[in-house]
Amino acid sequence: MNTPRQRITVLGATGSIGTSTLDVIARHPERFEVFALSAQRQMDALFAQCLRFAPRYAVLGDEAVALQLRQRLGEAGSATEVLGGAAALEDIAAAGEVDTVMAAIVGAAGLPPALAAARAGKKVLLANKEALVLAGGLFMDAVAGAGALLLPIDSEHNAVFQALPADYRRDPAVAGVRRVLLTASGGPFRTRALHELDGVTPEQACAHPKWVMGRKISVDSATMMNKGLEVIEAHWLFGVDADAIEVVVHPQSVIHSLVDYVDGSVLAQLGNPDMRTPIAHALAWPQRIDSGVRALDLFEIARLDFERPDYQRFPCLALAYGALRSGGCAPAVLNAANEEAVAAFLDHGLPYRQIPAVIAATLERVCDLPVDSVEAILAADVQARAVARAEIHKRR
Ligand code: NAD
Ligand code: MG
Repeated sequence: MNTPRQRITVLGATGSIGTSTLDVIARHPERFEVFALSAQRQMDALFAQCLRFAPRYAVLGDEAVALQLRQRLGEAGSATEVLGGAAALEDIAAAGEVDTVMAAIVGAAGLPPALAAARAGKKVLLANKEALVLAGGLFMDAVAGAGALLLPIDSEHNAVFQALPADYRRDPAVAGVRRVLLTASGGPFRTRALHELDGVTPEQACAHPKWVMGRKISVDSATMMNKGLEVIEAHWLFGVDADAIEVVVHPQSVIHSLVDYVDGSVLAQLGNPDMRTPIAHALAWPQRIDSGVRALDLFEIARLDFERPDYQRFPCLALAYGALRSGGCAPAVLNAANEEAVAAFLDHGLPYRQIPAVIAATLERVCDLPVDSVEAILAADVQARAVARAEIHKRR
């Protein structure tokens, strides 16, 4: 091939999305070259990835672990340069040599480097939905201002992107879009008796029936906060109001989302539930490449079911719609409280059913904070976390 290889930074390389991204990249060495990899502190995994992909840089959030990795890679004869700390994440996202940034850090920590990539006008593959929940307006302005190309990795938003016209400009009216329908598997507790939810463990909550994912997003899927965050994400990505975004529970996870047009047409994207499909789609866009995902067998699937979401079972979904409608700092507060509550649940400190209670109480106590800059948003995030921790403490 004559075209130069795409030089890629993978933020969150050791995670579920990061490893799937490297799996797709490894299938196409003639197209892709890894410029930099990052992780928070998973040294063994990052060490192995550095030997395999020989990036120019490896960044660890934890500086002490960075020192150890530098020594190990040096002993192994690797030329990869190791950096440590959050500022280095922004450097590898915005570096002049980089074409494409996979933003796959989990949580609010992923916002600054994803925003740096957008401001530097990169092709940004966005898995880190929390970045848009926290700072959707600023993020989309940065993308437009710098002429960045934003491609959604979240399977639902990638599906919607594929079902929208190629020249879609975030104006549903112009494109004739009536509604965006986001599908949701319903997670592991879709049919569990409500009273049984009191005692569920982190292991049960993370045992997702259809997707293998990181622990935080797995718990979000169980509570359906994941779908709530995705409603907010869809609002910013596609310019659709909360009223025009509908959640459809679809346990088979074969239809990844749909767009309903004013003429009655409904376009959907289908596929096996494997994140390598949206990742390969975005990496190669507007071309198509092999992702390693096996072909969909409709005869094996045989049927597709749809249900309305049960807001009593999934109060987090209603909280997220409410935060989107309130606007201001509410989505950032929702996200911060959710991250704290999920971490406390995973730590066995907070009962599962208290997660929405902590978020609701935090939303009530933290309001009217300014969110007109990244600094203000991150300050709101810090303040909301402090309140959420106090709420968690009361409920342990
Ligand atoms: P994960 O927990 O498996 O991986 C997270 C990655 O981020 C790891 O490499 C970790 O080292 C790094 N990281 C964690 N905290 C960090 C910090 N404070 N600073 C720097 N790096 C940090 O998570 P995941 O499941 O791969 O999800 C990543 C993102 O993609 C999330 O925002 C999630 O919502 C989104 N997403 C994931 C999936 C999925 O199938 N896993 C699907 C759609 C969207
Ligand atoms: Mg999703």
